[in-house]
Order: sequence, then C-alpha cells, then structure tokens
Amino acid sequence: MPERIAVCPGSYDPVTNGHVDIIGRTANVFDTVVVGVVGQAIRKSKAMFSPEERKAFLEEAIAGVPNARVEIFTNLVVDFAREQNATAIVKGLRAISDFEYEFEMNQLNRKLAPEIESVYVIASPNYSFLSSTGVKEMATFGGDVSDLVPAAVATALSERARR
Ligand code: ADP
Repeated sequence: MPERIAVCPGSYDPVTNGHVDIIGRTANVFDTVVVGVVGQAIRKSKAMFSPEERKAFLEEAIAGVPNARVEIFTNLVVDFAREQNATAIVKGLRAISDFEYEFEMNQLNRKLAPEIESVYVIASPNYSFLSSTGVKEMATFGGDVSDLVPAAVATALSERARR
C-alpha cells in the first residue's frame, strides 16, 4: 500500500492541548502527518506569535509523535497538501460553530482538489471548548492556562502578558 499522508492545517497561534490531541489521533490512523502552520492568515487578525515561533512550539509539543512533522505554508491548503503528496486534509471539529465554516471550506477545497479527501476528527470532550483565541484572552488577563497548552506555550503566554 502507498504511504498515506495527511496534512493538519491551522494557524496554531499558539498550539493548544486540543490541537495536540487531534494531531496524535490523526497520526494513529495515517502513516505520516504533516502539520501545516499558516504563514499569513486571512481569516484571523494579526497573530500573537510568528510562524517560526508557532512551528517551534508545535515541534516541541509533538516530539513524542514519531510520524508527525511541522511545516510552514503560505499557499492554498490544497496546494500545500499536493506538495506534501497528502491524500487527506484533516481538521478538528469542536462545536457546531466549527461545522458551518468547515462545511463551506469543504465545498471550496473539493472543487479545487477533488482527489484530496477532507477528514474530520471530533474534539475530545475535555477540549471541545478550547481555542487558541480563548487561551490568549485568558492569559492576557492573568488567567492560568497551564492545563490547556503545552508547558513552553504557557510560559511564553505569561511572559507576553507581563509586558
Ligand atoms: P483555532 O480555531 O483554535 O485558532 P486553528 O486555526 O489553529 O485553531 O485550527 C487548526 C485545526 O485544529 C482546525 O481544524 C481546528 O478546528 C482544530 N482545533 C482547534 N482547537 C481544537 C480543539 N480544542 N479540539 C479539536 N480541534 C481543534
């Protein structure tokens, strides 16, 4: 059987335990996972961390997943997937709110690249209400996020908050 490669695209600003969960579960069912860090986001306002910082946090967080690696990409998700020889784009789904956006993206990506299947992994219950945006908000106001993000991210967030 040919190698089955999945890409997990996202802004990861910063990576949370919810992302790590999705990447690990994807790595259980694909041969290789390429985590794609969006270099410049259109959908979202300015990122807190640079693409290189976000990549470094991810690499540390998934160091225990031998078949996953991280790349920064600045092109379309489907083009990034093709470059990586991926057969699937894997997205995590939390609440209903994610569904609407993902439904639209699915139709667009299907049109652009019918040969690449989009696959959705449902968030684990512990992480269903966890988002990078929420974590940044909490940390900015001095909240403790150490249960929600990898240790290095928690440290970086509290350093930013103190500035
Ligand atoms: P966010 O919406 O937190 O800013 P990203 O744009 O970095 O996340 O998303 C990357 C991928 O991870 C998306 O498929 C998103 O739906 C998914 N994801 C984000 N947070 C979680 C979570 N807590 N549980 C499951 N999937 C998640």
